[in-house]
Amino acid sequence: MSFSLPKLPYAHNALEPHIDAKTMEIHHSKHHQTYVDKLNAALESAPEWADKPIETILCNINEVPEVVRTAVRNHGGGHYNHSLFWESLTNEKTAPSEALHDAIMKSFGSMEKFQEEFNAAATSRFGSGWAWLMAHADGVLFVTSTPNQDNPIMDNMTLTPIVGLDVWEHAYYLHYQNRRPEYITAFWNVINWDTLNARYQAVLDAQQ
Ligand code: MN
Repeated sequence: MSFSLPKLPYAHNALEPHIDAKTMEIHHSKHHQTYVDKLNAALESAPEWADKPIETILCNINEVPEVVRTAVRNHGGGHYNHSLFWESLTNEKTAPSEALHDAIMKSFGSMEKFQEEFNAAATSRFGSGWAWLMAHADGVLFVTSTPNQDNPIMDNMTLTPIVGLDVWEHAYYLHYQNRRPEYITAFWNVINWDTLNARYQAVLDAQQ
């Protein structure tokens, strides 16, 4: 049993002009594949972890044998974060559910304030990393960012990622070069609210 690269739920060119086909192809088939391969290679030295869900491994990263912990953190985080990312994008028109919209209002005051805070987290993350919209178990939302391929669930397993934006240069450099803010702006045009709505609903359902 080992981890495998998930299929993209759309064609490489589906997100153009916001995210170009070449970037999507390389990002998915080369970068993500490498995270999967190196995660599987690392877990050969820790076979007791190889059958566990990736979330379980990441939430308990400090229990993973030290000799492979950094590799599992980086490549397991890479596999998890990218799997979330592909599902968060679409070329179809979607909108926030009433429940997620209400939670954004409650947590940030307005959709604009939420986007401002998210964009600031994505812009100011120095070097490589991710910006996140996360949900606490009680449904309260917050924005944060992580370095490298870390995910906020590594520090707090009660959190749920609603959406993450990859701000590694490999995610935008071919089309946007050094213009990360333009890539961040473009992201909002291809966000799959249906996916975000379902992730948020799962948080609410877990409270029942
Ligand atoms: Mn990436």
